[in-house]
Amino acid sequence: MHLSPSASLAVVSDPVFTAHSPSGFHPERPERLGAALRGLARVGAPRVYLPAREATLEELARVHHPAYLERLQARLAGRAGMLDGDTYFNAHSREAAWRAAGGACEVVDALLQARAPVGALLARPPGHHCLPDRAMGFCLLNNIAVAAAHARARGVPRVAIVDWDVHHGNGTQAIFERDPAVLFVSLHESPLYPGSGHVNELGAGDGLGRTINLPFQSGSDGRDYAQAFQEVVLPLVTAHRPELLLVSAGFDAHARDPLSSLKLDAGAFAWMASALRGALPAVPVGFFLEGGYDLTALEDSVAAALGALVDPTQAPALQGRNNHLVSAVARTLRRSLEPYWPGAL
Ligand SMILES: [Zn+2]
Repeated sequence: MHLSPSASLAVVSDPVFTAHSPSGFHPERPERLGAALRGLARVGAPRVYLPAREATLEELARVHHPAYLERLQARLAGRAGMLDGDTYFNAHSREAAWRAAGGACEVVDALLQARAPVGALLARPPGHHCLPDRAMGFCLLNNIAVAAAHARARGVPRVAIVDWDVHHGNGTQAIFERDPAVLFVSLHESPLYPGSGHVNELGAGDGLGRTINLPFQSGSDGRDYAQAFQEVVLPLVTAHRPELLLVSAGFDAHARDPLSSLKLDAGAFAWMASALRGALPAVPVGFFLEGGYDLTALEDSVAAALGALVDPTQAPALQGRNNHLVSAVARTLRRSLEPYWPGAL
């Protein structure tokens, strides 16, 4: 399956994703979904609309503990409150979270049935901080992990997840750190919430070498990400030979974002999307909205990144600037990963 400029785009979204809302101001707010949808509207590709149906217990229990799911449902039933210091819920949060996770499975099914080469879940709440047994960081269920596990249950032998949200995808890492079938690569600002994602976190057990963390210092920009992609991300994602690529697409590494101090722009997200397509031209790709808290940056970046996934020729050129800190991270990874990826880096 090779992409043409008219490649179609399978989309899941639903009004319930705006009904999950905080009682006062919170950066993870319903207006974010409108911004993402305005970005989607700027992408010139035929659409296939998929239902945002609720995830089943079987689908969720592949990555979450059944006791957590029971506890969460009971806690969310018709009330409003906080699950931790920054993770709120209201009377619509249960339905929104369950439909986001079910929509994640619909995206995977559409991709595996070749109904479209690119699929997008534009949903709230986001997911990548959610642990097997605990909500955190605005996340109630781990949508992208549910998607990856769904693909595995459908018989996909290898899945790659690239997480370019500015925060470490600690939940997704915790879920797959022992699973050699799922490559997890996170690029994130460090130090920053949630505090994990050190370069020496490489997975565990049979999954050793299949968790990759690339921390970036404050002020890093798209050229630094391009360098990391060229030196580490693209060679490993290619060597893993995934049959499905999933992107934890947060846009809070954008220079305008209030929650981080990285300096990416919309073109940098487009470049990363296009570079992944170029590395894996025949592999379907799922796009899962995570963070991104400046509405203008979010709209522009969703338009740019999704546009580049359906038509990689749209992305601007970007060259690494040979940042010595990025080179040091790449060198460390090259050394520590050699036993698991001989000759790949
Ligand atoms: Zn984030």
